Amino acid sequence: MSEFSDRSVAIVGSGPGGMYVAQALLEKAPGCRIDIIDRLPSPFGLIRGGVAPDHQKTKRVDQKYAQSITENDNVRYVGNISLGRDVSLDELTAIYDAVVLAYGAPYDNKLGIPGEDKKGVFGSNAFVGWYNCHPDFKDLGPNLNIGTAAVIGIGNVAIDVARVLSRTPAEMSTTDIADYAMNDIDAASLKDVYMFARRGPLEAACTNNELKEMGVLEAATTVVDGSLLPDEMPDDMDDREKKVRQRIIDTLKSLSEAKPGEKRRTVHIEFYASPIEILGGDTVEGIRMERTKVEGGRCIGTGETFDIPCEMVVTCIGSRAEAIEGIPFNERSGIVEHEEGRVAPGVYAAGWVKRGATGTIGTNRLDSYAVTDLLVADFGGNAKPGPDALDTLTQERNLQVVSFDDWLVIKELEEKAAPEPSPRKKFSTVEGMIEGLNAAR
Ligand code: NAP
Repeated sequence: MSEFSDRSVAIVGSGPGGMYVAQALLEKAPGCRIDIIDRLPSPFGLIRGGVAPDHQKTKRVDQKYAQSITENDNVRYVGNISLGRDVSLDELTAIYDAVVLAYGAPYDNKLGIPGEDKKGVFGSNAFVGWYNCHPDFKDLGPNLNIGTAAVIGIGNVAIDVARVLSRTPAEMSTTDIADYAMNDIDAASLKDVYMFARRGPLEAACTNNELKEMGVLEAATTVVDGSLLPDEMPDDMDDREKKVRQRIIDTLKSLSEAKPGEKRRTVHIEFYASPIEILGGDTVEGIRMERTKVEGGRCIGTGETFDIPCEMVVTCIGSRAEAIEGIPFNERSGIVEHEEGRVAPGVYAAGWVKRGATGTIGTNRLDSYAVTDLLVADFGGNAKPGPDALDTLTQERNLQVVSFDDWLVIKELEEKAAPEPSPRKKFSTVEGMIEGLNAAR
């Protein structure tokens, strides 16, 4: 018996933010019982549904997360249970000594410009979810039989979207991209993809490794206007930042040597361009952009505008969390209201629901460990009933919980269904996963 063995914690969300809280609890509160609750039968959040299908190496972090569950009897995965739909926060706080909200930021930010509601405008969460087989977005049905698509933003998500739209089936054969998406992308008449960055090359939000991939696509050329690239770094930039920025500029310089139309598709990176209106009738027919300049790091409109005809717009401009009843929410920043991770007595936030949609997978580790320190320090009073009480509740409500062993059955079905050398053919519906699981039992 450890001093924590009568304590229990529910982590809501099994993406990186939540999984690092579980790992931290295993170290800092050994013996504490940990339930990781997720609304989907499949665990690990953005690792499965957000990380690009052609970044399989990144996805392999899921093996470490899986170990935290399989190698520890006091950790359970409680899949297919949704906070707000199946259980309330009040119920969870009555059952567990602490509840950690780590359900991510799956809602797309809005541009807030006229025409944004036209057919053919998609947010990146929806678009990425579509090609990643996310059950919420499998029916998105973007029409790719078009000439031109516009991608707004130049963060890593925008790069993912532009790259996946440019890949061939051969390049994607080792991935788990949805079949329906790969078929549509391959059959598409799409010729040009514009990536619009509202600021300049020195402010690009993407990282160099991701940008470099745009230069080695089998059937797409990426082009950028070399005259916009600075020869020197600004004096007021610190040395570390200079190094990071110089690498990006060097990559952009090498991209600037390519010519549009050299391959089947062309990705045009356009700096200093901010969207002001999406044009067309019910469906997108173009996008009106305003030329910008950057002063003191800030983007300023110049009043000069230009139109690019296009039939699809994918906004990759960041994400916000879901406002769940009973949980204080900051509408402006799109995150749960908290103080250093403390939301209310016994309730904590971790991951993107706490910090907003920024940083790499690894950023979550430090942050989740810090929140866990607070949580463990706050343990006090009589221990709450813990996981058995959740089981009673889910049984009373006739909810089908997907345990980690159940998930391993679904995972094996996906792996067996995949044609070599693809790692898995994902289920794209919750019903499909549950039916597959029930039939395999
Ligand atoms: P992000 O890095 O914040 O990039 C958002 C982009 O949208 C920026 O270019 C931003 O421009 C632009 N933007 C925001 N509001 C806009 C508006 N109203 N009009 C025009 N442009 C607008 O967000 P993200 O790409 O969604 O990525 C989220 C996080 O996940 C990032 O930390 C990212 O690095 C990480 N991620 C990493 C990987 C990877 O490592 N491979 C892959 C995917 C995501 P400004 O810079 O001017 O604001």
